[in-house]
Amino acid sequence: MIIDTHCHMYNSEYEQAEEIIRQCNDNNIFMILNGIDKKSNEEILYLAEKYDNVYAAIGYDHSTVDKITDDDLLLLESQLQNKKVVAIGEIGLDYYWIKENKDKQKKLFENQLLLAEKYNLPVIVHSRDAVQDVYDILKKYNIKGSIHCYSGSVQMAKEFTKLGFYIGIDGPITFKNNKRQKEIVKEIDNNYLLVETDSPYLSPEPKRGEKNTPLNLVYIIDKIADELEIDKEDMSNILTENAKRLFKI
Ligand SMILES: [Zn+2]
Repeated sequence: MIIDTHCHMYNSEYEQAEEIIRQCNDNNIFMILNGIDKKSNEEILYLAEKYDNVYAAIGYDHSTVDKITDDDLLLLESQLQNKKVVAIGEIGLDYYWIKENKDKQKKLFENQLLLAEKYNLPVIVHSRDAVQDVYDILKKYNIKGSIHCYSGSVQMAKEFTKLGFYIGIDGPITFKNNKRQKEIVKEIDNNYLLVETDSPYLSPEPKRGEKNTPLNLVYIIDKIADELEIDKEDMSNILTENAKRLFKI
């Protein structure tokens, strides 16, 4: 079994999401689908109920800050009671596109971190051009989780692991010109590495340019194994165990 710890394999992103999920099931590929808003959260809960190889991470991401109400947070809290929910995600801060609403983004992020603490759930964190703020906020809470598609410095990655956070590695590690993720897998403790596709985005080599799916997870695992000079099977087992430990799967 291998586990894609972060992807968006649902109907609003794919015409044939369920067919791909079934194909993954045939190949013993499990996945944690990540929501970003009310609609995707609901789609994910539906798929997680229906398929054994699907787990749910639900939450409201930075793009929803102007829409999410207190009632929506109550809705999320009630949805967290579903047994297939293994994390709150993806949630976080993104200053790449919008910088004017930092305070609003932080508030939405922290409201969901409070829920994670209350229900003892890990969080899956999106951080783009916001690594220091994300770190300063996570430090205040007693929670674990993953920093998905990590793109910060090696030093900062080490600081996150000290807080109990895992580092999500995805397609870019297979790109020739991407040095950062290659450096990170070598520098941090193997027990804090997670593998993810972020489908439909970030297709790894040799599928670059195509729409990504969890079926491509193996290319990322093999590349991590290559970089660390570890047997591919052993690497795969380490990554699966890490995901199982963090998400209590
Ligand atoms: Zn994502």
